[in-house]
Parts: sequence; structure tokens; C-alpha cells
Amino acid sequence: MKFDTASIHGGISEDKDTGAVSVPIYQSSTFHQHVLGGEPKWEYARTGNPTRNAVEKLIADLEGGVAGFAFASGSAAIHAVLSLFSQGDHIIVGNDVYGGTFRLLNQVLVRQGLTFTAVDTRDINAVTAAVQANTKALYLETPTNPLLHVSDLKALSAIAKAHNLLTIVDNTFATPYNQRPLELGADIVVHSASKYLGGHSDLVAGLAVTNDAELGERIGFLQNSIGAILGPQDSWLLQRGIKTLGVRMRAHEANAKAVYAYLKKQPKVATIYYPGQPGTKDYETAKAQMDGFGGMISFELQAGLDAKKFVESLHLIALAESLGSLESLIEVPAVMTHGSIPREIRLANGIQDELIRLSIGLEDITDLIADLDQAFVAL
Ligand SMILES: *Cc1c(COP(=O)(O)O)cnc(C)c1O
Repeated sequence: MKFDTASIHGGISEDKDTGAVSVPIYQSSTFHQHVLGGEPKWEYARTGNPTRNAVEKLIADLEGGVAGFAFASGSAAIHAVLSLFSQGDHIIVGNDVYGGTFRLLNQVLVRQGLTFTAVDTRDINAVTAAVQANTKALYLETPTNPLLHVSDLKALSAIAKAHNLLTIVDNTFATPYNQRPLELGADIVVHSASKYLGGHSDLVAGLAVTNDAELGERIGFLQNSIGAILGPQDSWLLQRGIKTLGVRMRAHEANAKAVYAYLKKQPKVATIYYPGQPGTKDYETAKAQMDGFGGMISFELQAGLDAKKFVESLHLIALAESLGSLESLIEVPAVMTHGSIPREIRLANGIQDELIRLSIGLEDITDLIADLDQAFVAL
């Protein structure tokens, strides 16, 4: 099945009892067990719910995994997956990860005895050098948030395998439409489904997928034990969103390419970060492992120009956190999504105070460019 077909017909796409082509919302916390001590398919809805199960099977299909898990948020998915590790374990983590992930690692999981080394995962030697006797995993994003750096997943997972580490990839920015890390050697994929997968800014959700049945058992155990599951209403909404992922990603990409071309010619822009920008190493890696460049672009204004004034001058493009939705969203990571990262670490990782991150939506491109243009004029 091709991707667009799988996103509609993959997983569980029909209710077997009624033939309903949209999986019903099973708003039930428990299920009647007709035999004491039997093995009922459904027992209690934290452990399993048919609506959640449908979206879990769907994401497993789209990522090419054997087991999928839906959580109350991307952060909950990441927390459950990182709960595979124990006190004393060490994890190598990409230095340009989502601010909330950085906060989870450094303010929560370190207190539980995990240790981390942050490295630029584009640098294979740096990753190898960071491996210790107690290293258990490599955790990264590609493309990264917000600098859109691209790491070579095949090379990294080969190194990880050689050192017996699990490779865990946050695939939020690429989505399985553009990149399938499990096919490139990763062991676990996590998502903030609040972004492209949900796609309509009406949902907070997270997903995890693995292609290893035994790892799947362990993540399922953690999902049930920790309990941050996605409820049936949101599971339904997420499946509905995923059905149109392919069409949306193509439209996001077409608009992003046009915005890139516009920014490239805009004299008030100093630097652009975009995986589809030729002449960069990120571009070469992206071309080799991704089917598209996505809908995210970050950029810096020329020195002395005011990023605050720029983002506040936009009328159509909303100043808001989050990304991957129908409507275009803009933000300043240093103040918003990555504000929880100490300034010196942020700067060392290349996130300038004035960096602007733009999630290009599905509005008509003429209107988007006109909005950007009037904000540049206002500077
Ligand atoms: C938003 C985001 C998260 C966190 O997901 P939530 O659903 O907000 O908890 C994790 N990783 C990336 C790359 C994100 O953009």
C-alpha cells in the first residue's frame, strides 16, 4: 500500500461490528468480562481502548513498525520511552532538541539517576566519542527544532548498534510521510502528534512506535504503568487528522518552497535554516534520507533589525507556539518554545535570541507572502 492509501486504509480503518468507515469513539472506561480470569480483548481503557488501538495500529503501519502507542502528549510519549532506562544509565542526546525534551532530561530524569551528554548528532565522531560504558541509547531529532539540522540516521543507527545502544528518533518535524527512521535503522520513533499528525491545532497527543516486538512489550508495559494514555475522543481526532497527512504535507512543502524563495531574496534576512536549502550538508543528508523537506523554515534578520517588531507586525501568520497546522504560525524560540533552555546553552547550540521559526501553513501562498512582505516593510 502506498502512503496515501495506508494513511486512509492502514491500521484499523473500519468498525468490524457495524461497518462504520470511521472508527467509532468507544467512550467506555471498562469492558464487560463474561468469564472470570479469561483473556478478554478489552478490559480497562488505560490498558487498551479500541479507538486508541486504531490510531496506534495506524501509526505503526505508517512508520513501518510492529507496535504503536498513543499518549496524552508528545512529552508523555518521550517520558514513557525514556522510562525504559534505569538509574545509572547514560544517554547521548542531540544538542538541538525540543526545549521541553531538554527540560524533561535535565530537570526530571537526572533526578532519577539518568545522565546525558548533548552532542551535535550531525558529527558522527562526536557521537562515537560520547559513548561510555554505561551508555544505553542515542536520542535525537532530525530535522531538529528549531534549527532544522539534519542528521544521518543510517550512519548513526549503525554506530549505535555497534555499541549496543537503542536509537530513538523524534520524527515530529519530518512525519512518516517524509521520513521513516525505523527503515533507516532506528529502534523507536516518537512523535508530538500535536503537530503535523493531528495537523489542525486542535489536539495535544503523542505517539511511539517500534519495530521490535520485545521493545513493544516493554513500552506497552510502561504506557499502562505510567498511564499517560490518549483518550478515545482525541484518538479519534488524531486518526482523522492522519488520514490527510499526505495531501497536507505536499501542500505544506509547496508553500514552504515558495516562502524559502521569497526569504532568500529578502535583503532584511541574514540567515535561513531550511533542509531544502542547496549547498548545505543538511540538504545533502535530507535528500538522501527524506522524501521531502517539510514545511518548517527558521531565519535570522540582519543585525539590528527587531524580531519582536517583525512577528508582531504580521496579520495573518499567528504569533503562537506549536507548528505543523493548517494555519501558519510564527514564534521566537528563545522567548517561547526554547525559553526553558538556559541562555548560554541555547547560544552555544546556535539558537540566537533573534531567531525566528516559521511553520508554513496551507493558506494561499500569495496571502502568506503579502503578509511577510508588509512585516518586512514595517521594520
Ligand atoms: C512539540 C514537540 C514535542 C512535545 O510534544 P507535546 O505534544 O507538546 O508534549 C516534542 N518534540 C518536538 C520536536 C516537538 O516539536
